[in-house]
Amino acid sequence: MGYGALAIGGVDCRDAVAEFGSPLFVLDEADVRERARRYRDAYHEAGARMVYYAAKAFISTAVARWVSEEGLGIDVASGGELAVALRAGVPGELILMHGNNKSMAEIEVAIAGGVGRIVIDSFDEIVRVADAASRAGVVQPVLVRVTVGVEAHTHEFIATAHEDQKFGLSISSGVADEAVRRIVKLPSLEFAGIHSHIGSQIFDAAGFEVAAARVVGLARRLMAEQGVEVSELNLGGGMGIAYTESDDPLDVAEMARQIGAVVTRECTAAGISRPALAFEPGRAIIGPAGITLYEVGTVKPVELDGGVVRSYVSVDGGMSDNIRTALYDADYTVVLASRISTAEPMLSRVVGKHCESGDIVVRDAWLPADIVPGDLLAVAATGAYCRSMASNYNYLPRPAVISVRDGACSTVLRRETLDDLLALDPGA
Ligand SMILES: *Cc1c(COP(=O)(O)O)cnc(C)c1O
Repeated sequence: MGYGALAIGGVDCRDAVAEFGSPLFVLDEADVRERARRYRDAYHEAGARMVYYAAKAFISTAVARWVSEEGLGIDVASGGELAVALRAGVPGELILMHGNNKSMAEIEVAIAGGVGRIVIDSFDEIVRVADAASRAGVVQPVLVRVTVGVEAHTHEFIATAHEDQKFGLSISSGVADEAVRRIVKLPSLEFAGIHSHIGSQIFDAAGFEVAAARVVGLARRLMAEQGVEVSELNLGGGMGIAYTESDDPLDVAEMARQIGAVVTRECTAAGISRPALAFEPGRAIIGPAGITLYEVGTVKPVELDGGVVRSYVSVDGGMSDNIRTALYDADYTVVLASRISTAEPMLSRVVGKHCESGDIVVRDAWLPADIVPGDLLAVAATGAYCRSMASNYNYLPRPAVISVRDGACSTVLRRETLDDLLALDPGA
């Protein structure tokens, strides 16, 4: 390993790029596994029967195997994600299926695969899942996804009375109660519990506390009015991670403890027995364990008002491999990865190669002033929602994902080729 270059999992990033090309997603397998274990242990300690890894953050057969070997189930939100989990050999009963518009084909594949939980998101779907289960001759356990009127983001959450969004069935208007009433009448469905997911990048337990209180209120009402017990309460995912130094999420065990405690307290107050809990972290398992390596192509100083100079550092990817900056105004940490520099820091903006001025990877960064074409940059915490949201904008083939462990690399997803893309076009 050469002096001065960034290493991850014992692999020099220059060697990884030399072998697999750039841009390159690199996942630290040991880190993913450790996070999975930490979440499983902390949330089981807090009363969970199951912690599912949310596949939409990033899924491949390798990742599905790692997290299931560490004791997590898998939450899928489409037939495609389900196919990867099944192909990885994840047992159906450890899979939970989401989606506000699952196709009949997706529902049938889920039922045939023995998926342990299907999360119901509409009245239409109650009938569809019941029909499919009945045709397959099984009783399908389902959860009802509810909206609790809490929108959480980082350390802020908003509690509202009305829920103007596509997901879930409203508690406050009694729609959720009606869904349960219909489900318990259908012999091919088993009402397994309630599901609530309040948002993402949540840094403390406050939003979960309000959500838990509202869901427990529903559970009490279901018992009182319908004699139906809620035996499972899935509080979703959304546990936040640090993208930059200013992000300060609550410790995993402490977050789990606080959420578990509030559910216990609310259930005691409501006079109902405490349901088993379930959770679905995605970003928190895979996000910090991944980085993106890019090669610098051009460096362009641009004079701003007042004479300040900003360097536009263009890399060989951009919004096609990381849409989060453009989509959510997300912030990232970026460093020079291929060598050590003692040059002064310069105000920089790391941008991609797409035909779009919003094609920004890191809006404001301080990079060494001697950055030149050919240098490698590493953007931290890109394991979640980067490759999984990647596109082929400008006909860019999507980057490879490799894993590193004890100094060795292996391919998680190979790089797309131009031939892969051209193969979709039947030609003239
Ligand atoms: C997105 C999502 C998750 C995972 O969210 P993270 O922020 O990655 O933890 C879990 N459950 C549901 C229903 C989701 O939509």
